Amino acid sequence: MKSKQIRQTFLEFFENKKHQIVPSAPMVIKNDPTLMFTNAGMNQFKEYFLGNSDPKNNRITDSQKCLRVSGKHNDLEEVGVDTYHHTMFEMLGNWSFGDYFKKDAISWAWELLTEVYGIDKDCLYVTIFEGDKSEGLERDTEAYDYWKELIDEDRILNGNKADNFWEMGAQGPCGPCSEIHVDIRSKEEKAAVDGATLVNMDHPQVVEIWNLVFMQYNRMADSSLKNLPNQHVDTGMGFERLAMVLQNVQSNYDTDVFTPLIREIETITGHTYGKTTQEDIAIRVIADHLRAVSFSIADGQLPSNNGAGYVIRMILRRAIRYGFTYLGKKEPFIYQLVNTLSKQMGDAFPELKSQKNLILNVIKEEEASFLRTLENGLTLLDSMISGMKSAGSKTLDGKKAFELNDTYGFPKELTRLILSEQGLEMDEEGFAIALKKQQDDSRKASATETSDWTVLVDDDTQEFIGYDKLEADVRISQYRKVTSKKDGELYQIVFNMTPFYGESGGQTGDKGYLESASGDTVYIIDTKKENGQTVHLTKNLPKEIGGTHKVVVDAKQRARTAANHTATHLLHQAMRKILGTHVEQKGSMVRSASLRFDFSHFSKVSAEELVEIENFVNARIREQLSLEENRDNTYDQAMEDGAIGLFGEKYGDVVRTIKFGESNELCGGTHVKNTGDIWHFKITSESAVASGIRRIEAITSDAVKDFFTEQSKSFEEIKAVLKNPTKNPAESIAALQDENASLKKEIEQLLKAKAGNLKGDLIASAKSINGVNFIATKTDLDAKSVKELVFDIEREMENLFLIIGAANGEKATLTVILSKNLVEEKSLDAGKIVRELGKHIQGGGGGQSHFATAGGKNAAGIDVALAAAEGLI
Ligand code: ATP
Ligand code: MG
Repeated sequence: MKSKQIRQTFLEFFENKKHQIVPSAPMVIKNDPTLMFTNAGMNQFKEYFLGNSDPKNNRITDSQKCLRVSGKHNDLEEVGVDTYHHTMFEMLGNWSFGDYFKKDAISWAWELLTEVYGIDKDCLYVTIFEGDKSEGLERDTEAYDYWKELIDEDRILNGNKADNFWEMGAQGPCGPCSEIHVDIRSKEEKAAVDGATLVNMDHPQVVEIWNLVFMQYNRMADSSLKNLPNQHVDTGMGFERLAMVLQNVQSNYDTDVFTPLIREIETITGHTYGKTTQEDIAIRVIADHLRAVSFSIADGQLPSNNGAGYVIRMILRRAIRYGFTYLGKKEPFIYQLVNTLSKQMGDAFPELKSQKNLILNVIKEEEASFLRTLENGLTLLDSMISGMKSAGSKTLDGKKAFELNDTYGFPKELTRLILSEQGLEMDEEGFAIALKKQQDDSRKASATETSDWTVLVDDDTQEFIGYDKLEADVRISQYRKVTSKKDGELYQIVFNMTPFYGESGGQTGDKGYLESASGDTVYIIDTKKENGQTVHLTKNLPKEIGGTHKVVVDAKQRARTAANHTATHLLHQAMRKILGTHVEQKGSMVRSASLRFDFSHFSKVSAEELVEIENFVNARIREQLSLEENRDNTYDQAMEDGAIGLFGEKYGDVVRTIKFGESNELCGGTHVKNTGDIWHFKITSESAVASGIRRIEAITSDAVKDFFTEQSKSFEEIKAVLKNPTKNPAESIAALQDENASLKKEIEQLLKAKAGNLKGDLIASAKSINGVNFIATKTDLDAKSVKELVFDIEREMENLFLIIGAANGEKATLTVILSKNLVEEKSLDAGKIVRELGKHIQGGGGGQSHFATAGGKNAAGIDVALAAAEGLI
């Protein structure tokens, strides 16, 4: 069965069991502070398990893009080394939200695997949770009893808490699970070793393919377990592993999900898959990581220096390094695979097709820059190695290796490899200590502690009423305390309904205040969205929690933010008109003070284009276009009407569309009622964010006025400084610059002449002491001229000991040069001499044996130093 058909069969099987097929959620998570990437199919349904909102359908099935490279689930180190863990993979799943439970989940899984896919029952094992005394949890006999109807009892194995109790994270929904494992070894191998003994033992041909999780508990902040209000089913089956079984191969990489990529890697690199272990690992790593990185970029997450972007960068760098070390690729090449990936998976994931050029360019640029890093790192490591060799050491200091890794991005594995090639090693312990110290420091800086929610009212709708109202009388439905080093102690409060906009879609959250019936006022300093809830942040709680509170949004901030948000839409429209429809939004930040818009475009936006864009937006503002808002549009209708949506954004069936004239976008943000309310639009900067991504920053309304006031003020100041208000200031400044340049030249020539004169004088002043021609003098020449001067003299005199003390204010420099024959015959050392003499000017220095300098902060000591020099001879 081809992989496409495997995926389709799964979804249709559950559709026939009354499940609704839904699309995969984005792999990069935007509105959840506890998770950067989707790591399991259930993530997008978390709010249903927590009971924060109700699903439209209580049976759902999908194929979810997952990434396991950070946090609780991190498989990165395994990937490529083994044949069945990926960074990015698809998880096929079926869900019951308070509907069917263990019985149906188990029997359907069995029916699908054995009857529909036709997997031999004798290849399968299942596990059930054995219970856990410390948690007070019983063995899952219920699941056992259902399984024993379907499979021999000796194929039902007990599993402990680590394997058979599934938890999403440190807190949240969890429960016992039942896994299905498959044994794809040959007959002979099976006869030799009982498969049951290999389950959960990391055997590459006895692997888990499907996990059926029975959600019935909620893990609280104090780590106790509470029963969830309803029981749910959450299952996840690894799509690539299933393909391995159904396509009768021994590795995920031999399925049609991966073979096109592997063939392409072979063609590009000239290495054949299946020859040596190291090359095979490298090829698998590259094929795997390419997928992870491409899907992330398509989801709108570019490689960067922090957060999710940093994780993506590290994944790509791991692939580049494997290519560099084991496939000998010193030039970018991974980007070339994007074509194959897009051809192969573009039907199931259209974003790979529409974003192909961007993905390709970003990867190419990242490859080029990391390869430069590798080159620089190699040079640095080489000098460390020669230092080690001359010091007779065989071990590279762990701190240094860590610095190479942390500061220069040079991978630790590569350091280790290069050292071992020369019979050297790395101080692993020192490295680990340095790493741990850094991790501890950053953990301390970012640690947050969250208490459990105190729930007052459970079944509130938490409706957002802020499109129409800025004030409301509300009740508090729940609150909790959050403590972090960064923000200190804050409270998060959820209301039964709210006029406050929670940060999302690039727009910052509303600020405002809450006023209790008694008149007690609490400021709301920010509003966020978390797991489908709008959370209001305050520094303290109102004195009375219960009862009704009046909440009021800061109207001025909201109005400015709305002006900036509408302007962002107009800007987007302008750019697609003026630059072309390849322009796609790649991120935005709409605040009250300004707006920022990142978009795909492959060259700098020229000054003329920027003016044209500004004019276009201002023309729409002057047309005074009214807002046409539709809050209950269907997604399909909106698309038909030409509305623009964003990749990597999760849209439901019902969407909101925002139209101003011909600008038409899917958007949940707040907007002005009429473009005239924006007053004016001004671009303040245009820059590059990454290869193929540009950024425009702009301001509107009041901020434009302030901007121009500021500008004209500094213009007046410039005119005042120039003391020539009639002339064009730019011309005056250019004239000053010219004058300055020619004066510099003149000074240089004067100094040269001065040094020339000095040279003659100095040679004439040489004293002969014990066969040494000694010259000492004090000057105010700059360092460069002194250096030229001493080398000039050294070329013309034998047996020379020349010392020059230069004073520059309080600062002093001593420069010593010795003829080579003095160094060799009399073992004089300029380095030692300046260090000794440096004491007189309160400084230190060093250099080579025939030329050295010292710097200090006591110019008054120069004469003493010069006299001491003579004494040395
Ligand atoms: P394993 O022990 O093999 O790492 P797991 O216990 O981490 O698996 P679950 O969290 O239960 O797996 O995920 C459900 C299913 O997703 C697994 O049965 C497996 O088929 C698949 N899966 C999990 N991790 C990966 C991965 N890194 N790459 C590919 N498939 C995976
Ligand atoms: Mg795992």
